[in-house]
Amino acid sequence: MESCESNKMQKKINSALKDLFGFDKFKGNQQQIIEKLLEGNDVFVIKPTGGGKSLCYQLPAMISQGTAIVISPLISLMKNQVDFLKGMTMDSSVAHFLNSTLNRQEIQQVKNDLLSGKTKLLYVAPESLTKQENIDLLKTLKISFFAIDEAHCISEWGHDFRPEYRRIRPIIEAIGANVPVIALTATATPKVQQDILKTLEMNDAKVFISSFNRTNLYYEIRPKAKDEKVLNKEIIKFINQNRGKSGIIYCLSRKKVEELTETLVINGIKALPYHAGLDSNVRAANQDMFIKEDIDVIVATIAFGMGIDKPDVRYVIHYDMPKSLEGYYQETGRAGRDEGEGQCIAFYSERDMEKLEKFLNDKPVSEREITQQLIDETISYAETSQCRRKLLLKYFGEDYTQDNCGNCDNCLHPKPQVNASEEIVDFLEVVEQTKQQFKSNYLIDVVMGEMTPNVKTNRHHKIECFGIGKDKPATFWKAVSKACVLNNFLRKDIERYGELKLTELGLEYKQKPYPIKIACDRDFGEDAEDFAEEFVPMSSAESTTDPELYNLLKSIRKRIAEKEKLPPYVIFEDRSLVDMCIQYPIKEEELKNIIGIIGVGASKAKKYGNEFIEAIKAYVEAKDITRPQDLVIKSLINKSSGLKYFIIRSIDKKLPLEDIAISKNMEVDELLTEIESIVSSGTKIDLSYCIDEYIDQYRQDEIYDLLREMETDDIDEVLEELGEDEYTREEVRLARIQFLSKYGH
Ligand SMILES: [Zn+2]
Repeated sequence: MESCESNKMQKKINSALKDLFGFDKFKGNQQQIIEKLLEGNDVFVIKPTGGGKSLCYQLPAMISQGTAIVISPLISLMKNQVDFLKGMTMDSSVAHFLNSTLNRQEIQQVKNDLLSGKTKLLYVAPESLTKQENIDLLKTLKISFFAIDEAHCISEWGHDFRPEYRRIRPIIEAIGANVPVIALTATATPKVQQDILKTLEMNDAKVFISSFNRTNLYYEIRPKAKDEKVLNKEIIKFINQNRGKSGIIYCLSRKKVEELTETLVINGIKALPYHAGLDSNVRAANQDMFIKEDIDVIVATIAFGMGIDKPDVRYVIHYDMPKSLEGYYQETGRAGRDEGEGQCIAFYSERDMEKLEKFLNDKPVSEREITQQLIDETISYAETSQCRRKLLLKYFGEDYTQDNCGNCDNCLHPKPQVNASEEIVDFLEVVEQTKQQFKSNYLIDVVMGEMTPNVKTNRHHKIECFGIGKDKPATFWKAVSKACVLNNFLRKDIERYGELKLTELGLEYKQKPYPIKIACDRDFGEDAEDFAEEFVPMSSAESTTDPELYNLLKSIRKRIAEKEKLPPYVIFEDRSLVDMCIQYPIKEEELKNIIGIIGVGASKAKKYGNEFIEAIKAYVEAKDITRPQDLVIKSLINKSSGLKYFIIRSIDKKLPLEDIAISKNMEVDELLTEIESIVSSGTKIDLSYCIDEYIDQYRQDEIYDLLREMETDDIDEVLEELGEDEYTREEVRLARIQFLSKYGH
């Protein structure tokens, strides 16, 4: 009998999968989850992003009697899912959401549909669920089950704790429906899992944990340059190497999001910002542009990404390291959901982590302890020499048994390991002799024999083991210190600000040491400064420092111009040539990275650059010239860059020039000057939408023809040639901008 029932159920589930959702087969353990729920069990589902979580409650809701109540914290996600379900069934009453965005009339519609029994899924935000009138409404309904999405929000140990989530269980009790609960999350450490089960009182729940291993993701941690320009340059280089692919860059602050977006846009990258401080319409529009691939890069705070499902994000860059590994996993998880390429690059520095720790000082003790531990785990992940995949999976309670994952920086470039048992004993000795009252960095100073003011004050230069390890670098001792904590020989005392205390095990090890291998971890502190290359200061020299090369380049320009039937200034402006004589670019990459200068954009460098590069290379070799070490990116050196960025964005949106001028309190004339400077710095701008409105086609052609013929692009001369009565100055300027954009890049 029972098996007959279960056969029937399986059939029902399978036909719903095909007929409603259009899939031929289930992904992973979806089917077992759905069956357990429909049998009336509480179910706890842990599935990484992209594993098909929502189907686990959507499908059973569709084939059950009554309405499933889905508790979800994300308004955007609710809306997406409701739209999806309505579209799938062609039935506008099948799913609804109840949250603060609805007006009175809409709420009434939702209530009517609910009471008529047509609605299969009702999405509610936890704060709406706490309202008495909503509880009263739900009491009158037949409820099939409760689904709690993003269940990790329940736990303080999770990366996204929401206090309202703690009230879910009492509210379910208050509603009084004796129905199963399914809790789902894409991320939960063993600690968070316990917390969820306990808080929701789901003691008998069937637990389904899918593997967190995302084999297609590549994990890499890079040292973060202290000089922001150097860092930006590295990021721009990475994006340029991945042109045409979609990527997300995460920053911790809104301010950084804005600044970095501007820098990217000014450097010719199609990017938009996303953070909670933006108007919700702007946010939605930017997200949309990213999904539709009108832009390549979205620069975002963690507000971005929850609830969006773009399968082909090819890279996720962490400009700042997140404060928990869970957040890191979640954010990197947005790359490569289609199981294709997914590069996860994080820029890490000790300074950033210290900053995060400083914020903790004014927090209550319990919160401080929790967060400190999360930060410590992130630090050891970032600084490890072991397989990152192994560490990350261990964090989620999963054992990864392979020695080399072949897809993280440490596995691809392993570091040699040495037996450090002697040094470990030495270090434990230092801890003992300094009375277990110091943090790692101080202990390293002592072991290396650094005569710092603190060491002097404490008179630790007098102890026996002062300087006992001065033959080894600080990075080595850092690794030793970490190995001691990892092997439980030393314990970090959080209440005592991270002082290291000896444990029983540590005392035993000192007596009876055995071999322990360590790898020298990478150094991400102040010593890592080699990475911060020196910047070449840009001189605004009007006159060239190398007239011989200058004349050579000019003659090349003339030859190309004649061949292309274009005026020389369209190829490269004079100031660009001057700059080439200062920077001596010998690669296309370098040519297009020349900053502050006018006229060399990426496509120009590609189109015309080769001859110049070859000439400069030969010249540099012949004259044995020492080139500036490295070339620089265009950066936000002047105040007007924000304005430029605004203008580029507005023109992309095809706003009338008058409106752009008015919104920035400028004259159109001033606006044109700004646009001219944008175009001549190598950024392409398409003004065709307004030119076609202002200037007849044949008049446009006439101006373009003349610009092509003339040796100069001086507006006055062009105007004079055209006949000042026939054309206005504005027309000529507009056409010139369009002409330079079209032919000059
Ligand atoms: Zn690995």
